[in-house]
Amino acid sequence: MGMLKKDKDIINEILYSTTEYANEFFSTLNERPASIKPYPLPTENLPEIGIGTKEALKLFSRNYANGLSGSNGSRYLGFVTGGATPAAIAGDWLVSIFDQNVSTNESSIASSIEEKTIDMLKDLFNLDKEYSGAFVSGATMSNFVGLAQARQWSAQFSGINVTLDGLFGAPPIKIISGTPHSSIYKACSMLGVGKNSIITIPCKKERESIDIEYLEEVLIKQNDSPCIVVANAGTVNTGDFDDLKAIAQLKSKYNFWLHVDAAFGGFASCSPKYSSLMTGINSADSITIDAHKWLNVPYDSALQFTKHRTIQLEVFENNAAYLSNSNDVLDYCNLTPENSRRFRALPTWFTLKAYGKKEYQQIVERNIDLAKQLGAKIEKSNHLKLLSQVHLNIVCFTLESDKITSDEVLNFMERVNSNGQVFMTQTNYNGITAIRAAFSNWNTNEEDLEIIWKSLVEELK
Ligand SMILES: *Cc1c(COP(=O)(O)O)cnc(C)c1O
Repeated sequence: MGMLKKDKDIINEILYSTTEYANEFFSTLNERPASIKPYPLPTENLPEIGIGTKEALKLFSRNYANGLSGSNGSRYLGFVTGGATPAAIAGDWLVSIFDQNVSTNESSIASSIEEKTIDMLKDLFNLDKEYSGAFVSGATMSNFVGLAQARQWSAQFSGINVTLDGLFGAPPIKIISGTPHSSIYKACSMLGVGKNSIITIPCKKERESIDIEYLEEVLIKQNDSPCIVVANAGTVNTGDFDDLKAIAQLKSKYNFWLHVDAAFGGFASCSPKYSSLMTGINSADSITIDAHKWLNVPYDSALQFTKHRTIQLEVFENNAAYLSNSNDVLDYCNLTPENSRRFRALPTWFTLKAYGKKEYQQIVERNIDLAKQLGAKIEKSNHLKLLSQVHLNIVCFTLESDKITSDEVLNFMERVNSNGQVFMTQTNYNGITAIRAAFSNWNTNEEDLEIIWKSLVEELK
């Protein structure tokens, strides 16, 4: 008898033992090292005859599980890494059970659920009703989708339809930004616009926030020819924000598409204490917000919001006779690069329903409070140097000394990380090798902060 048939007969046991195993993994997250230095794995052989799921699970947990990081835990402060809430995990598991293809809107209500989930998110982020949205795999993809629309829009002024004719006849597309994320460059490469089309404008003194006067000068020089402004709401180095309100005001005077990369900074909207950082967001033509960061749903999940669904359809429409086109709810395959899509909205639907506005406000405020506390400890320390005010949930710091080398900073960080209690990542801030600690896990608390601080102090000795 084939293993597949056997597995089918014991699917309840398989799901049960997977749940048990998952529960063990989840409940021991805090004992697991925050990060694991990758090591080479032995060659894997493809078995001629399989061993079945239960044996595969045992084999996996024996051979590989120790090599997985505690990135879902509360002291993984690298990059900007959210955890996964219990409700989001439940939703994510069910995505696999349901296995809907949210490509067209023909055979289930999954597309409508995606649409309803997006409506709840518009409420969470205080976005105007005019926005429509779609789930994509991450903020990089969301930036790509936003800039693809901006490209289409920009070339139209020269009578060129990029969707039909490509970029060849179009004048160069100009993208203006202060501190764009690396994914903006990647998107420009993928879009054929080119990374060199990005013009970076100086920021305010000791900030990663665009100098508005300088921006206006550049816009004046554009002489009404269209351009794209990428505003940054939450920079990865320091969590700084462009003045969205001021940029929104410029929009009434100059001809530009405003794309806001609010991958994690968008969550400032969840708290009345920080929501003013997002004032002006509703002037954006397109917006990027990650779900797998501060919303704490599992990878891969992000939102793409737009006020220009018609342009979006022009760019992404996937004409095919066998795909439907005539429903009230849009076919999502016509809105983003993907055709077949997983039921990506479901983990978000679950977590929003389970915890509501209030608990997201609390997660955001708690994370920011912890970041500010760590910032204050670093500022008081004689051995560490805070490189920027803590604007949101990111602490950017280095070693305190006149002649610290890059290697010393990185060695220090490696020692802290290899201790396993915390994981932080490096960056370069204003030419200085720096360490970043980003708080975005729902589960991080004051006790964690004590452990994190102890880990830092121990390696300073
Ligand atoms: C994380 C991040 C991105 C890229 O996000 P992915 O989800 O990793 O693709 C883009 N912009 C900003 C500001 C980010 O923080």
